This record gives sequence, C-alpha cells and structure tokens, in this order.
Amino acid sequence: MKNTSEGGNGSRNSQSQKRQRSHSETLIDLDDLDCLICYEPLTIPTFQCDNGHVACKFCWPKLKRCPLCALPIGNKRCKAVESALERHIVPCRNSKLGCTKNVPYGRDSTHEKEYCKFSLCSCPEIDECKYTGSYKDLLFHYLTSHMLKPDCFFTFGESRNVRMHINDKILVLLTLDKTMLFTVQCFREPNGVYVAVNYVAPLAPEIVEKFSYRISHSFNGETHSHKVPEMKRILGVSFQIPREKNLMFVSNNFLSGEVLEMELCISES
Ligand SMILES: [Zn+2]
Ligand SMILES: [Zn+2]
Ligand SMILES: [Zn+2]
Ligand SMILES: [Zn+2]
Repeated sequence: MKNTSEGGNGSRNSQSQKRQRSHSETLIDLDDLDCLICYEPLTIPTFQCDNGHVACKFCWPKLKRCPLCALPIGNKRCKAVESALERHIVPCRNSKLGCTKNVPYGRDSTHEKEYCKFSLCSCPEIDECKYTGSYKDLLFHYLTSHMLKPDCFFTFGESRNVRMHINDKILVLLTLDKTMLFTVQCFREPNGVYVAVNYVAPLAPEIVEKFSYRISHSFNGETHSHKVPEMKRILGVSFQIPREKNLMFVSNNFLSGEVLEMELCISES
C-alpha cells in the first residue's frame, strides 16, 4: 500500500499532480466509462459481474445475470471504474459554444445546467418561436428575428410606464445599448395577478451584473409599490406561477379590465 502511494499514483496527490493526472486521463476511452447495457455514462455506484462486466446503478437492479456472460451480478462494486469516474473530467457540453470549463464525467453538473455562461436560454416569444442559444446569441436572435416594440427600450435608474394586457402574459424589455434582455410577466390567479421582472441570463458567476427593480401599480388614486433588491435570472420564461413570493401582487379589487398600468424602474445594484 505504502509503496504505491510513494510512487505518486496514490489518490492523495498534490494539486499539480492531480492536474497532470486529469490531463493524462483525457486518453481514457470514454466508452470504458459507459454502462455496457444502456450505454449511458456510468455514475457511482457501479456494479460488476465476476468477469468484470460493468452495469450502471439503473440497470443493475433489473438484472439477475450478466447479459454478456450470464454470470450472476451480485452486490460487487467496481471500485476501479468508480475511482476513474471520480477523477475523470470532460469538457462542458457547451464547449462548442465557447465554454472552456471541465465538468465531472457522468455526474449531473449544475455548471452545465444553469451556471455555465453558455447555458442555453430560450427565446421569450415561446408561443411562436422555439429558438435557444447562449444569452448573447439569444439577444442577437431577438433583435433580428422579432418585431421590436417602439417602447421596449429602457434606461437603468429611470422610471417608465409599462402597460400590458394580462392576456399577453409577457413583455420584453431591452437596454438601450441592446446588450441585455429583461422580461415582465404577469400570472393570472383567481384573486388577482402576480407580476415578475426577470433578467434572461444564466446564473454564471462571470456575469456580474446585478439588478434591483421597483414596480408600482395605481388604481383610483391608490398606488401599490413593490421593491425587489435582487432580480432573478432565468434561462427562459415559464407560465407556471413562480414559487417565490417576492413579487408584486395586484388583487382583483385594484384591477380595471384586463390592462395593467404600471411604473417600473430597473436599477443596477
Ligand atoms: Zn445502464
Ligand atoms: Zn459478465
Ligand atoms: Zn460550461
Ligand atoms: Zn425567437
């Protein structure tokens, strides 16, 4: 045991050795890290038959015998594959779009899902358009493929009137320099309407811009204001009522017809 770790192949190496090792592991044939039955990437735990054929944790409970050699598959874990999985990293699936980050192979990666700067965002015009792309590409797509409303541009820190039909459900706002896309959405509830303002961008830490907003709704001389200190980022719009409660709610008593007349101020924070 001692000899192997002194030889530098042990699992507790220094950072630089780790980096070398992960580099050398790019030579591993990725097929060796896939389940022999369903061909999906293996995840920990993995199981094996007495001949060393490997099954993933999803296939294993369904098998009595190994489909390749008919030997029984018991509870035997395949530690060699598991430790290879632990060490093996692959380029983020958005590498084609420009991401240079690596993620663990065969594991659900929060980076790929939401935190990658290149995570796919969907076009907010979801009724008529199925486009997805990185948030920068989405912006370009939006500017070139959709009719821009004359009042869709806004300036940070300036209050502006926002008028929307409750049935329209969504309104797109763009910064004057056309570099950021925001959505104003309303959600019909039996007792009234929720209004949410979101920034369409992934949660990537490299995107440092943070925004707050203040929104108000007036009816018969009475004004309701709502402040959100940190605006949420979304990868796409959904018409399900958001779970978070930090939204403006306009009750039916303060609605006149189907039009919402609001004042909105988005600020950089
Ligand atoms: Zn499998
Ligand atoms: Zn087998
Ligand atoms: Zn990435
Ligand atoms: Zn579109």
